[in-house]
Amino acid sequence: MSQVTVAQLADVLGVDVKRLITQLNEAGIEVSEPDAEVTNEDKIKLLTYLRSSHGKAESEDTTQPRKVTLTRKSMSELKVPTGGAGRTRSRGAAPSRTVNVEVRKRRTYVKRREIAEQEQSDPEREAAVQALEESKRQREEAERKEREEAERRQREAEEQARAEEEDRKKREAEEEERRKEEDRLRAEAEALKKVEEKVVRQAKQKEAERKAAKGNVGKEEPATRYGREELHIAPKSKRRKPKRKSAARPGKVASVGAEHGFQRPTAPVKREIEVPETITVGELAKLMAVKAGELIKVLMNMGTMVTINQPLDQDTAILVVEEMGHTAKAAEDKDIEQELVEAEESVESDEVSRPPVVTVMGHVDHGKTSLLDYIRRAKVAAGEQGGITQHIGAYHVETDNGVVTFLDTPGHAAFTAMRARGAQATDIVVLVVAADDGVMPQTKEAIQHARAAGVPLIVAVNKMDKPDADPERVKSELAAEEVVPEDWGGQEIFVPVSAITGDGIDNLLESILLQSEVLELKANPDKRCRGVVVESSLDKGRGPIATILVQDGTLRRGDMILAGEEFGRVRAMFNEAGQPIEEAGPSIPAEVLGLSGVPNAGDDVLAVTDEKKARDAADQRKQSAREGRLAEKQAAKLQNLFDQMDEGGEDQQNVNLVIKADVQGSVEALKDALTRLSNDEIKVNVVASGVGGITESDASLAQASGAIIIGFNVRADASARRIIQEADLDLNYYSVIYNAIDDVKKAITGLLGTETKEEIIGLAEVKDVFRSSKLGAIAGCLVVEGVVKRANPIRVLRDNVVIYEGELESLRRFKDDASEVQAGTECGIGVKQYNDVKPGDQIECFERIEVQRTLDD
Ligand code: GDP
Ligand code: MG
Repeated sequence: MSQVTVAQLADVLGVDVKRLITQLNEAGIEVSEPDAEVTNEDKIKLLTYLRSSHGKAESEDTTQPRKVTLTRKSMSELKVPTGGAGRTRSRGAAPSRTVNVEVRKRRTYVKRREIAEQEQSDPEREAAVQALEESKRQREEAERKEREEAERRQREAEEQARAEEEDRKKREAEEEERRKEEDRLRAEAEALKKVEEKVVRQAKQKEAERKAAKGNVGKEEPATRYGREELHIAPKSKRRKPKRKSAARPGKVASVGAEHGFQRPTAPVKREIEVPETITVGELAKLMAVKAGELIKVLMNMGTMVTINQPLDQDTAILVVEEMGHTAKAAEDKDIEQELVEAEESVESDEVSRPPVVTVMGHVDHGKTSLLDYIRRAKVAAGEQGGITQHIGAYHVETDNGVVTFLDTPGHAAFTAMRARGAQATDIVVLVVAADDGVMPQTKEAIQHARAAGVPLIVAVNKMDKPDADPERVKSELAAEEVVPEDWGGQEIFVPVSAITGDGIDNLLESILLQSEVLELKANPDKRCRGVVVESSLDKGRGPIATILVQDGTLRRGDMILAGEEFGRVRAMFNEAGQPIEEAGPSIPAEVLGLSGVPNAGDDVLAVTDEKKARDAADQRKQSAREGRLAEKQAAKLQNLFDQMDEGGEDQQNVNLVIKADVQGSVEALKDALTRLSNDEIKVNVVASGVGGITESDASLAQASGAIIIGFNVRADASARRIIQEADLDLNYYSVIYNAIDDVKKAITGLLGTETKEEIIGLAEVKDVFRSSKLGAIAGCLVVEGVVKRANPIRVLRDNVVIYEGELESLRRFKDDASEVQAGTECGIGVKQYNDVKPGDQIECFERIEVQRTLDD
């Protein structure tokens, strides 16, 4: 594609040959006949000319954000062609031909828009420009690939040559060292008994060879020089014992000892390294048998700053492995599981419909528990009733029209926590709204959770027996949340019920079954079981217990199952009434005994045929869970947005946000402003928003949807903070809307300059308030976290909502002024111009620091 004739080019561009020649000439390229060759340089020149002839200098593009912030991976700089730099020279374009792929992509995008404007004026040129751009892009791509390839080859060659040279030198030094090592290894001998036999054999063989080759030994210089004979194959006289010792060493050492055993390597050892999906620097170094420091150095040269415990993704790891002269192979991590799944899928049979799985949600005291209790009392077979004494995570009821399974997991957080682990167990959400209370905060929250999970809602308008029940109000309030009843022309089914009298409950069950028909829920009872852990516990007598909801196939007593990171044979199974059962089909829950440990709620369950496979898979999962936890820490950071964009290619990226603020006005403003930042490449999604502090439920929703949490004048409560910390979620507090918008915008455009970051350095709880005529209100406080500093700004929080921001007037320990007070200490705090402080308030002390934002963590 590098050289074409004018005629060919004209053909490609769909323009007249003559016209093209004229254009080429105008662009300063001397061609006169259709057979003349057009080089890539020429094409670029033509492109530049065509563009400028429309008054669109290329330099205009460079007024676009210079997203040079992306140099985190300087590998991307390597990729960049410098050859094309000349064409923009005169336009004063960025000298940095070090921009990488996505910058080009962006620029192209801008140009397209410009071009779109010109479209009517000159479609021909437009076509030419596009085609040229395309060819330029391809050329650059090809060049880049070539260059990379050449560079890589050269690097490899250099590396190899250097490694050879180094190796030679090293070997000589190592000879020396080896002797010392011998002694050390002797001590390690016991731990290495496993290889003993093999090495005994080896050593014997070597010995035999040595004897055979005795005459030639003289040639092996080092053997005699370093007197290694005594190190290994001991003199015949004291043969037995020392030989065992030497035999206990690793093969490498033993063979070295056998005089001629060590052969000076002529090339560096090339290994084939299997690279798993994630691997820490330390582990990778071990695989390549190099020092971690050496690997870190190579990575640094490649532009990646890492520490020994940092996980590398597979691509990076493969790059560095090849950089170091080995061959890399992507390890097929999913081996065992894949096999299991395939075995599963090879069973063929028809699917049949299965019962729906329902979760009941709603505001506190609106009657969730009462509703579930009523249904259970009324519908679970009479004989079983008495059996239900303890709480169970799931149960199924039989109605005239079919079976419905209820998940009785406490709270929305549990629902979403399961989802966060990738387990979508619920088919339908029943939203309970008390007719005498209407839509409350947790009602809205439940709607958000259900929407985020893409699960249909059925509204149970409860407490209809109450005199002040007002179902119309519930309808209009829910309509405001975009849950519109059918009789108002919407989609949602509303069922009036009473959990006390039982009125309407049958209707509710019927509606659930109706909805489930619409959903066409299917499963195949003939398959081996697939399911999800709903609940689990450790019983002193019976060991680990898991309530498993079968999602597909049938679970039978005696089945070997894999549940999350645990496995085991189903020793016994019970239904929700505590009665032993032999099997459970699709959508039916069962309590299962016999697992190796307690799995987590939300873990998937899979019946397998082979115990060994189950064990291996469990091990593998434990391992990858550990790796995953490390890798997760790097995920979903606000700062990583740009990276994600990079990888996502053409597709529009989603940025999910959970927004909480002190007042509805701020919520709306933020929601509005932030979603409006969406562009063709990035879509900003607000998955949840609301007034009030950041709760556990918000945090788990953020975790489930990979969302960034934005707290505007509100803070996370303790349980939310725990989740945020455990899952390493991205939480950002703001008190100026503009800053929030700015941050998200910067992250989206990749323009990360410096920023003023706020760091909360201490938190004090107000225990009592004293009034003094001289000083005003003095808050008697206990510093509960960090340190409160006299000189730093503070905020007063009430119920996790910021009510005042300002400065400290005074900070005292006992009667003395203090410049700072540490956690666990009581102190008196006077807040400048603020006298409304109350016991129970919190005083947050923070620090503003100017930091350079980077794409790294
Ligand atoms: P939850 O917090 O959503 O689980 O609500 P509960 O089921 O604990 O119910 C809270 C209170 O509302 C309890 O005192 C129930 O007796 C009462 N309640 C629940 N449903 C109804 C109903 O349909 N009618 C009346 N009158 N009271 C109800
Ligand atoms: Mg309850």
